Amino acid sequence: MHFNIVTLFPEFFPGVNGGALSGKALEKNIWSFATTNLRDFAVNDYGSVDDTPFGGGAGMVIRPDVMAAAIDSIPEKTRGRIIYFSPRGAKLTQQMAREFSKENNLTLICGRYEGLDQRAIDEYEMIELSIGDYILSGGDLAAQIFIDTLVRLLDNVVSKTDSLNDESFETGLLEYPLFTKPAAWRGRNVPEVLLSGHHKNIDDWRRDQATRITKERRPDLLNADSAKAKKSV
Ligand code: SAH
Repeated sequence: MHFNIVTLFPEFFPGVNGGALSGKALEKNIWSFATTNLRDFAVNDYGSVDDTPFGGGAGMVIRPDVMAAAIDSIPEKTRGRIIYFSPRGAKLTQQMAREFSKENNLTLICGRYEGLDQRAIDEYEMIELSIGDYILSGGDLAAQIFIDTLVRLLDNVVSKTDSLNDESFETGLLEYPLFTKPAAWRGRNVPEVLLSGHHKNIDDWRRDQATRITKERRPDLLNADSAKAKKSV
């Protein structure tokens, strides 16, 4: 899988994606990335990539011609779909990550300032993606979160596929509580059933706990799941 990253801060990459699981996968060439520095396509010697918004208002907007020049410098056959990180986009979900992880190439546009001229978004039919309902100062962190989420789904990155299938959001439920050694710690004991070695009881307990936690914390997930089930009938 190859990511083209259009950014004003190429030095931020691979960043977090260069460490741990994703870092090893990068070394093994399971995934790769190339950065394109938006600044290289500035309209003047001062390095301008942005300008004031038509119609007035605060802040600066990335120019469409500058963004287009940066995107056009990426060979078309390695571009794949173009994703623009934006708080206005559809919120990234595990299901969307699974879909995107099937692509061979993706181009990631990291916004800055107030954002990107709408015409560039339209011209390149960018997919707008948000990582949550809050405002970052730039799309670079969003890109790293997106890459991390996708890379761990690629073959041979996480050793046991089981550990992927069992996770929060994959089952439609949040994860059950986890315990490890020591079995007794500061007067808090690991639930008896987990020490029993009785797999059926352990599975039942975990499913009950996962359901309880999901009901308490994210009832919307249960509703979404029953909506999905209804749809498939
Ligand atoms: N003026 C914009 C926010 C701009 S923040 C608005 O009100 O919607 C600057 C850049 O940070 C954006 O262009 C985007 O690329 C990135 N960004 C900020 N918050 C984000 C989020 N929740 N998800 C994805 N990208 C985000």
